[in-house]
Amino acid sequence: MKRLLLLLLLAASAHAQVIVIKAARLVDGRGGEVVAPAMIVVRGNKIESAGRAAAPPAGAEVIDLGDATLLPGLIDAHVHLLLQGDVTTEDYDVQLFKESMAYRALRASRAAKIGLEHGFTTMRDLETEGAMYTDVDLKRAINNGIIPGPRLFVSTRALSVTGGYGPTGYSPEISYPRGVQIVDGVEAARKAVREQIGNGADWIKVYADRSYFVQKDGTLSSIPTFTREEMKAIVEEAHRLRHKVAAHAMARPGIENALLAGIDSIEHGIAIPDDLLDMMVRNGVYLCPTLTVTEFVAPGRAAEGRGIWAKIPEFHRDSFARAVKKGVKIAFGTDVGGFPWDALNEAREFGYMTRFGMTPMQAIQAATRTAAQLLDQDDQLGTIEPGKLADIVAVPGNPLQDITAMEKVSFVMKDGVVVRR
Ligand SMILES: [Zn+2]
Repeated sequence: MKRLLLLLLLAASAHAQVIVIKAARLVDGRGGEVVAPAMIVVRGNKIESAGRAAAPPAGAEVIDLGDATLLPGLIDAHVHLLLQGDVTTEDYDVQLFKESMAYRALRASRAAKIGLEHGFTTMRDLETEGAMYTDVDLKRAINNGIIPGPRLFVSTRALSVTGGYGPTGYSPEISYPRGVQIVDGVEAARKAVREQIGNGADWIKVYADRSYFVQKDGTLSSIPTFTREEMKAIVEEAHRLRHKVAAHAMARPGIENALLAGIDSIEHGIAIPDDLLDMMVRNGVYLCPTLTVTEFVAPGRAAEGRGIWAKIPEFHRDSFARAVKKGVKIAFGTDVGGFPWDALNEAREFGYMTRFGMTPMQAIQAATRTAAQLLDQDDQLGTIEPGKLADIVAVPGNPLQDITAMEKVSFVMKDGVVVRR
C-alpha cells in the first residue's frame, strides 16, 4: 500500500503541469549577458530550466510572448498596503480616524492586486499605519488563496517614542489611534519587539528620526527618536529572535543611531554623509531608497507649509548617487501607499534610479537579486535559475534600452501560476 502511494506521488510530480514561456530576451537577475531568444521551463511552482530557446518538452503548454523581456518577479522592499496616500496631514488622519480597520483591509486587498499586476510578486510591507496587525491577515488571505496578491513579508505596527509620531496637533484631552506602537525605555522596547513577533511580524520597523531641518553648514539634520540604548535593545532583541530590523532614517542623527545599533536596512536615507555610507558598506547594511515617494509627496507637503520638503528631493538625489558610487547594497523600494496605489505605477522607481546614478541593469538587480538577499530569500527568489520558485514577469521590448518598459508589465507568473497575461 505504501509503495503504491509512493508510485502515485511520483507519477503526480512527473505529471505536474509544465509551462514553457518563450520571449525575445531573458534578463535573469544575475547581472550577466542577456539571453536571446529565451525560454523558461516551469514545472509546478518551480523553474526547471532557463536559457536559450530550444524545442519545448512534449506535452508542455507553450506561452510565446514575442518581442518581450523575461525577468524575475519584481520585489518592492518598502510598501504600505494599509495606506492609500499620505501627501498632506489630512490624507493621513482621515484614514486613521474615519476608516475602520475592516474598510482599510478591503482597500489594502485592492492595493495588493494592483501591485501584483504591476509585476511585484514579493513585497516587504513596512508597517500598517495604525491598522494594527491587519498586514498579518492580508498575508494569510493571500497565502490561502482568498485574495490575489504578492508574497508578503510584514512588519505590523512599527515602533517610535512618545511625541515621535502622528497624528499630532490634537487636544491632549482626547485619545485617538496612533500610526505606530509607542514605546519608551529599554524594557518596553524589548517587550514590544516580542509582542510584534509573537503576533506575526516578519520584520521589525523603527522610526529612527523625525523633524528634518537644514543646519547652518547646509547639511540636512533631524531629531532622533530612540536613545542609543533603546535602539540597541530593539535590534538586539529582534536579532536574538532571528528577525531583521528596518529603520526609517533620513539624516545623520537617525542613520548613525541605527547603524551603531546594528540595523539591517536604512529606509529613505535622504542625506547619508559619506562616512556613514562607508559604514554601511563595511557592515553590509542595505539602503532602500524610495525615490518615488519623495518626488511624489514633496510638492504637496511644501505647499502645505512644511517648507523643508522643497529641499528634500535634492538631498535625496545626491545621497542616492553617492551611495551607488560607493557600492552600498541597494534594494528597490518605493514607499507606495505613501503615494496612492492607483496614482502611478510604483515601477516608476526604475526611472528615478537610472536618472540619479544607476545603470538599467543595476536598477533591475536592486528589484530582484539584491532585494531577495535583503529578505534572506535568495535561495528561492530574485533570479531565474533552475530550482527557484517560478515568479516570472515580462515587459515589452528591452528594458535595458528603455527602462520605462518596467512600467508596462504584460505578463505575471507567481509561484507557477499565471496571474496576468
Ligand atoms: Zn514607508
